[in-house]
This record gives sequence, C-alpha cells and structure tokens, in this order.
Amino acid sequence: MDRSPDSYSCAFCKIVSGEAPAQVVYRDDSLTAFRDTHPFASTHILIVPNRHIASVNDLDEGEQVLVGQMVWVAKKLAASEGLSARGYRLLINTGEHGGQTVFHLHLHLLGGPLARLALK
Ligand code: AMP
Ligand code: ZN
Repeated sequence: MDRSPDSYSCAFCKIVSGEAPAQVVYRDDSLTAFRDTHPFASTHILIVPNRHIASVNDLDEGEQVLVGQMVWVAKKLAASEGLSARGYRLLINTGEHGGQTVFHLHLHLLGGPLARLALK
C-alpha cells in the first residue's frame, strides 16, 4: 500500500490497513467505514478515505469526487442502519476550533434520538 509519512502514526490509517482493530461496516477501493469507539448516538459510524488526508483543509481540487463518495456511502449506510426515515446527522470537524481530534479526514454518521444533540 502507498503510504504517506504521516500515515504511519495515524490511528485511522492503521484501521484502513488492518493493523488496528475496528468494527468495519463498509470498505471499497477509496473509502472505509467503521463504528466509533465512543459513540455519541445509537448509530455512530466514521467514513474515511483510505488515503491519508489530514482534514478538509488538506483536500486538493481533484478530491472533490472523493468527498461526494463519502456522502454517498453515508447515505447508503444510513439506509442499511434503518436511519433514513427519521433522519441523521453528517458532521465533519475541522481543526482546533472545529473540534477535530483525529487528523485523518472523517465524516461522522450519527443516527438515533441523540443524533439531534450530538454536535460535540
Ligand atoms: P473528531 O473529534 O471529529 O476528530 O472525531 C474523532 C472520532 O474518532 C471520535 O468520535 C472518537 O471517538 C473516534 N475514534 C478515535 N479513535 C478511534 C478508533 N481507534 N476507532 C474508532 N473510533 C475512534
Ligand atoms: Zn491517516
């Protein structure tokens, strides 16, 4: 696997590569999705690019499609988790003031009653 230097110490790169355990719920050539270990709602899934991208700030123009794929996978997972009818929250924290704690881009999919409150 092609890896950037940053990826060797990155918790989410380790999940993508299989070096670290996770409850993976989806995987394709571009993206991996797994359950958050400290859920803020009854369903809390993180959707991440397989390649190390630290945050929204680090996205290149050519990665616009990748971000669209992340939202598409979130929609599909929301359906398979039974969230579509009642709704859910999609959230990307960016940088210090955005509350980002893991610097590998990730989209939170939050569903269930508490998703409404889970702004972190
Ligand atoms: P953020 O604050 O947006 O950077 O979110 C990071 C999220 O990653 C938090 O909700 C953590 O609970 C979650 N998290 C951190 N480490 C892991 C891990 N090894 N497996 C699954 N979720 C994790
Ligand atoms: Zn990473």
